[in-house]
Amino acid sequence: MTDSYEALPYCPSPFAYTRRPTRVVQVGDVGIGGDNPIRVQSMTTPATTDVAATVAQIERLVAAGCEIVRVTVPSAADAEALPRIRAGMKERSLRVPLVADIHFSPQAALLSVPHVEKVRINPGNFVDKKRFDVREYSDEQYSAELERLQEKLTPLVQACAERQVALRIGTNHGSLSDRILNRYGDTPLGMVESALEFVRICRRLDFHDIILSMKASHTMVAIQAYRLLAARMDAEGMDYPFHLGVTEAGDGEDGRIKSAIGIGALLDDGIGDTVRVSLTEDPVAEIPVALALVRPYNERSSPVIAPTLSGVEETRRPYDYRRRRAATVSIGGVTCGGDAPIRVENLLSAPPADEATTRRILNLLTRAAGTDTPCEILEVVVSRPGQVSDMERLVDLAAELAPDLAIAARPTAAFLQAEAHGTFAHLIRRVQRLAFRVHAPLDEDGLLKRGIGLDLAGMAGRPICWVLTPAMPGTHADVAAHLAVDLLEHTRRAGLPHTQVALEPGFAPGGVSAYRLLAERLAAAGLHPSLILVDRPAPDDQDGSLAVAARLGSLLCDGMGDAVRIEIRDAQGKRSDTTADLDRARELAYTILQGTRVRIVKTEFISCPSCGRTLFDLEETTRRIKERTRHLKGLKIAIMGCIVNGPGEMADADFGYVGWGPGKVALFVGHEMVAKDIDLAQADQRLVQLIKDNGRWVDPA
Ligand code: SF4
Repeated sequence: MTDSYEALPYCPSPFAYTRRPTRVVQVGDVGIGGDNPIRVQSMTTPATTDVAATVAQIERLVAAGCEIVRVTVPSAADAEALPRIRAGMKERSLRVPLVADIHFSPQAALLSVPHVEKVRINPGNFVDKKRFDVREYSDEQYSAELERLQEKLTPLVQACAERQVALRIGTNHGSLSDRILNRYGDTPLGMVESALEFVRICRRLDFHDIILSMKASHTMVAIQAYRLLAARMDAEGMDYPFHLGVTEAGDGEDGRIKSAIGIGALLDDGIGDTVRVSLTEDPVAEIPVALALVRPYNERSSPVIAPTLSGVEETRRPYDYRRRRAATVSIGGVTCGGDAPIRVENLLSAPPADEATTRRILNLLTRAAGTDTPCEILEVVVSRPGQVSDMERLVDLAAELAPDLAIAARPTAAFLQAEAHGTFAHLIRRVQRLAFRVHAPLDEDGLLKRGIGLDLAGMAGRPICWVLTPAMPGTHADVAAHLAVDLLEHTRRAGLPHTQVALEPGFAPGGVSAYRLLAERLAAAGLHPSLILVDRPAPDDQDGSLAVAARLGSLLCDGMGDAVRIEIRDAQGKRSDTTADLDRARELAYTILQGTRVRIVKTEFISCPSCGRTLFDLEETTRRIKERTRHLKGLKIAIMGCIVNGPGEMADADFGYVGWGPGKVALFVGHEMVAKDIDLAQADQRLVQLIKDNGRWVDPA
């Protein structure tokens, strides 16, 4: 990536929410962009020629809240089914706009125009056939290809202009043309350039009813590509709306979390005017997820004022990943920061008062250790002198049951003041980590705690973790950032250079802005503590895990965070110490780390949402393949419904299982097809054998 791209901003401020201004593009009666709500859409899965099934699914999608429906149009026969679908919709009073999804067939696109409100084309395959050729394109050859592209695209653009049909230029990371791949690589920049080739042709033809998308199954790539596209378009005076999505996200919790990370991070950046959540499930299941993601942004009223960071240069890199510099801290035997894996923490609101509960919690963590997703740091709040003996029992039992677990004690303010250098000093010598909670703003009480904290940390020779808490709801994050700088400078002067900082949720204007501000203020002061990302689902929010995934995912993709802690609260807003909630918090943290790929702890499944081209039962097949391969940590396995589009869309998968024909499968290693025409009944075993032949198989534990 060149320096010129890095210098372009994609939004007015990374420290406050502002929706990216766009023109409005009408898709039938539904306006996209401008001040319109962020729209929710999906795609049908029956064959488009099966008119009755398609109309029935459209009806269910609309009932669930879907505002725009896409249908695949692979051929002229499918395009010819569109008027019949329209008639079926009319019979059921369904007025939702229809979109024709086109790959490889300009003819099908042209035939669709009279019957739909939008056409989606993929710039990677609208004209070009993908061959994964490696070749150098001279400038003349490149220009000749662009001329050929203009020739093929012009009739479609003219037809859309005549009928006021919108056009989505929908780039997919996995299906960039060979021309783009050879010049720009398999990168966000390549995705952006791929779309801009098409946009420039539309603009030359004075056609502006354009919507753009930059989908990828790798959430970080999708986020970077959309940001870069926003920056490039802004620099070139373009204001077309964006359709957001993470493609081939898979199913279940993993698919939802991946979608929440990619879509949610961008919405929080102010980017996105319509969303589609792609799940390998009934498409109706996508709608509540999409609605939960867009709701907070559609309900926003007043814009938040961003703080002015005069003299502070942004160190965050929005268009490529670089982990934020952070000093390494040792917490018991667990390292955190530097190049250490991003750690997963749990928080206990008090040490358990009885041994049975302590054992139960530690057994849970010990069992978890066997699944590659253990809690690695357990922070425990100590609020009364009587809890010190409970804490000591916890430490002793942890040494026996979970020796790899680091334990941190977090004394409350009242306890510190009452006990100061007494009971707690004794405890701290036995506990592997010391954490202090300090309220912002720094008042007299805070100064006292700081003094006691430094004394105790010095006495124990331990790193210190400052946990900043909003003094009151709405305390601005910049107050916390300034306080953190002050505290860390005191810590450094006290000869304790290795520190950690965490922000409790609740700072205005929000979790993502708060950590970004903190990181920039610290970097400007030459301070590089490791950061613990703390978040919690809202107790009254059933979809809280999606919001947490969006916030934490955004920060992790920005390279921020050395540990992650999710706290589950009960209905009264109190921290929950039930084993079920501790387990859920731990598992969710790992799913988010995997969803961003900053820490790989399990097999990565890339599966398409299925559509009218799908050649087998994708949900069932995905479930079976997961069952057999879910222990292959780090392997990327794609399950794709059709050979026409599957290989192009599966991007960086190590192995691919792709529909070849009815009841038939093709197998891939990377992008190379190594077997085809395999009966579905044998295909799972052949995939396992292929993984073995390539030396990537291990037997399940
Ligand atoms: S890969 Fe899946 S979603 Fe994409 S066109 Fe093929 S069957 Fe449809």
